[in-house]
Amino acid sequence: MDYVSTRGQAPQLTFEDAMLTGLARDGGLYVPATVPTLSHADIAAMAGLQYEDIAFRVMRPFVGDTFTDSEFGDVIEKAYAGFGHAARAPLKQLGPNHHLLELFHGPTLAFKDFAMQLIGQMFQVALSRRGDRVTIVGATSGDTGSAAIEAFKGLDAVDVFIMFPNGRVSEVQRRQMTTPVDANVHALAVDGSFDTCQARLKDMFNDLDFRDGVKLAGVNSINWARVLAQVVYYFSAATALGAPHRSVSFTVPTGNFGDIFAGYIAKRMGLPIDRLVIATNHNDILDRAMKTARYDTGDVLPSISPSMDIQVSSNFERALFDAYDRDGAAVRALMDDLKGGGFKISQGAMQALRDHFDSGRCDEDATSAAIASALANTGELLCPHSAIGYHVAEENLGTSPMVTLATAHPAKFPDAVEAATKIRPPLPPRMGDLYDRPERMTEVADDLGQLQALIKDRIAS
Ligand SMILES: *Cc1c(COP(=O)(O)O)cnc(C)c1O
Repeated sequence: MDYVSTRGQAPQLTFEDAMLTGLARDGGLYVPATVPTLSHADIAAMAGLQYEDIAFRVMRPFVGDTFTDSEFGDVIEKAYAGFGHAARAPLKQLGPNHHLLELFHGPTLAFKDFAMQLIGQMFQVALSRRGDRVTIVGATSGDTGSAAIEAFKGLDAVDVFIMFPNGRVSEVQRRQMTTPVDANVHALAVDGSFDTCQARLKDMFNDLDFRDGVKLAGVNSINWARVLAQVVYYFSAATALGAPHRSVSFTVPTGNFGDIFAGYIAKRMGLPIDRLVIATNHNDILDRAMKTARYDTGDVLPSISPSMDIQVSSNFERALFDAYDRDGAAVRALMDDLKGGGFKISQGAMQALRDHFDSGRCDEDATSAAIASALANTGELLCPHSAIGYHVAEENLGTSPMVTLATAHPAKFPDAVEAATKIRPPLPPRMGDLYDRPERMTEVADDLGQLQALIKDRIAS
């Protein structure tokens, strides 16, 4: 299985190299050269299997020679062993034709754990086989960073630096990043927004001297292995609801387009998915793009769903690559235009996108109202991101069962939940002492040179 860049000018890589690299050297994102498909019978046979078994069957064709069957089985077992629910991604019914896919039973209480725990195990096996060491640098709006630190802390082949927007993550998110005591963990509070952090990360990857000098590796949702890990729960949920004998729709609270793009890959693999509904907060570049065919960035407005406060949605580039018939030059031209503020999506590409995706947005008041109405109608406390999914899904119910992805545990965003319901959701008992542990972080300016110097300095010591 080979991987190609969405901008058409980087070398083709194996799964292992695409995973260890993250962003392609031409600035593009890696995607599989061809998407493997599973037969109707293959999919039917997944019903009722343990999550880990479904994970093996879904991901095996993408991994190629990077792992033997037994190594890969082992990696998957270890990745999900620390989850707090036997089903890993349990489904709950919200209404006659509406279900909630709970993706928050991992160690940091958000869906990012599904991918990050798996990547941690895969990096460990691949790097120790090579006798190599890498520097992981990540940008986070909160949940990626905590999931990455949790997955990589204490591994000796890796230093992990996480840039987060200073003062713009929730207290639980911040504490999950700043309380691990392992020396290979570095939490960097950057003076800026998530988009700023993501831009500096891209700058570091595009500075090839720096990139090679520190052996930079990326675990942001631009890393293909992250997307792949998330494909699995679309299969587990859909087969639990009767796929492949009937089709299922999904609504996905979206920021960087990684999670919903995984659903699109599941569909390309043969899973009968009817609609994939993009749900945004008031940072609605994706909803506007779907409605107006213009992809224009604006200022990022803070919200009560901070993990979706994004105006440049990195993984959308992967969807554009397919919508433009895998024409790397066309994607390159669009991304150049994006530097000037935006671009128009061609009619043909728009048609291709609309064949798979619908969209909706949910502003701040509607988010709070959705948290309250979900509680009143179903008894469930939803985090603000999941509530955005709930709100948009309710507007898009059809004949096939709708599955809304619950992307974080309500206790990760207790202020927003309490403001909407007067109930303060408690942390699960296994993380109860989070507020008592000492914090450790470095405040840094939004300055590429300073950030690079700090990273070089820390890995040298
Ligand atoms: C990361 C995140 C999202 C957005 O996911 P994308 O893959 O970036 O679209 C939504 N909700 C929560 C809680 C998150 O952590």
